[in-house]
Amino acid sequence: MFELPEKFIRRMSDIDGFEAFLKSYETPPVRAIRVNNLKISVEDFKKISPFDLKQVPWEKTAFYVSGEGLGKTILHAAGLYYVQEPSATAVVPELEIAAGERVLDLCAAPGGKSTQIAQYLNNKGVLVSNEIDFDRCKILKSNIERLGVKNVAVTCCAPEKIAESFPEYFDKVLVDAPCSGEGMFKKEESAIKEWSEENIKRCSKRQSEILSFAAQALKGGGRLVYSTCTFAKEEDEEQIESFLSAHPEFKLIKMKKLLPHEVKGEGHFLAVMHKQNGSRAEVKLRKPKANESMLKLYRDWESQTLNFKADNIYCDNERVYSFLNDFPEVYGFHCDEGVYFGAKSPDGKRFEPSHRLAMCLKADEVKRIEVDEATALKYLKGLTFDCAESEKGWRVVTYMGYPLGWCKAVAGVAKNHLPKGLRI
Ligand code: SAM
Repeated sequence: MFELPEKFIRRMSDIDGFEAFLKSYETPPVRAIRVNNLKISVEDFKKISPFDLKQVPWEKTAFYVSGEGLGKTILHAAGLYYVQEPSATAVVPELEIAAGERVLDLCAAPGGKSTQIAQYLNNKGVLVSNEIDFDRCKILKSNIERLGVKNVAVTCCAPEKIAESFPEYFDKVLVDAPCSGEGMFKKEESAIKEWSEENIKRCSKRQSEILSFAAQALKGGGRLVYSTCTFAKEEDEEQIESFLSAHPEFKLIKMKKLLPHEVKGEGHFLAVMHKQNGSRAEVKLRKPKANESMLKLYRDWESQTLNFKADNIYCDNERVYSFLNDFPEVYGFHCDEGVYFGAKSPDGKRFEPSHRLAMCLKADEVKRIEVDEATALKYLKGLTFDCAESEKGWRVVTYMGYPLGWCKAVAGVAKNHLPKGLRI
């Protein structure tokens, strides 16, 4: 059992149900998964779920689960679900996303809310998923890859740069701000160690800067949602009050505090605001071109491996991507736009597909080898396995029809092409 900081206890002592609030720290953290309906419907997932699922009331794809190893199953590797703290799943529904909109997630790693936004967008429209920290951005990309999100640009830059590059571009903006993490005390010991009133002040200052840049990226008529996983007023209610007084073009729609003794979850704060004035910016769309010889290498490979012809293809002389419609020209920061399909082989003669592409494909879109549970586990460990002699070339390995990654079939052996970092 951990000890809560004394000052934190004092600061919380005036809330309703304070005793019950303290008692909530005596139980283990509640956990949930979000079913990835980009790949599987909730109904179909229920039929194959290895866990007991109990509905989280505020998000139709989220379910309370218990047990260990949630992130170590084959279905997890196939991107069929994302493990997420239950109260954190309450934020994205407040964006009221319609498929086809432009949405910004300004503080996005490790990607819980970005992948949830992607599910609402249903691979239509544009998601810009930004993370300032380069190492955390890698984790974000890997989660986006696993869940098979296609209509996304992952950027790694400061909020200021996003405001400058996408003025009044977005229909919806989410700021899930870096915070003092009082709702993380049960899950992360470091949250308790790092807690102090000075840190609350530092977080509050940083949040108000992030919010003002978020406001600039939102179109007039757009919706801004701010959230934290802390209970400190300076970062929650007072943050919103001072934002609204500095930005009279915004109107508050609602504020909600999910507290761990009132809901089944570790706690979250959220505020929903509407931007009344301002315009929707004219966007100068860029027109990517395809390098002819690289495109030919790719199309040759595609005709032997995929059951469809991909459009919106961009290639330089090494790599192939699909690009997003409706995306502006941006410069001066790391931006991974669309789906990276793969690159030229080292000898320059062939196209080699990326893991990202495998994870975006549906079973009927690609030549594939379906495997049983034991072979799937073997594959996820990075091992080769036997296959029919008739199989030749690049194949996606599927388990229950869901892609796990590529293999290359040669003379009855499927050589493993799962990236080394993803092997278990
Ligand atoms: N939305 C994420 C999710 O659902 O998985 C969690 C985001 S976490 C609460 C806040 C993120 O903000 C961290 O990844 C952190 O690196 C990032 N961050 C830290 N300082 C920042 C800053 N000055 N501007 C923007 N983001 C920042």
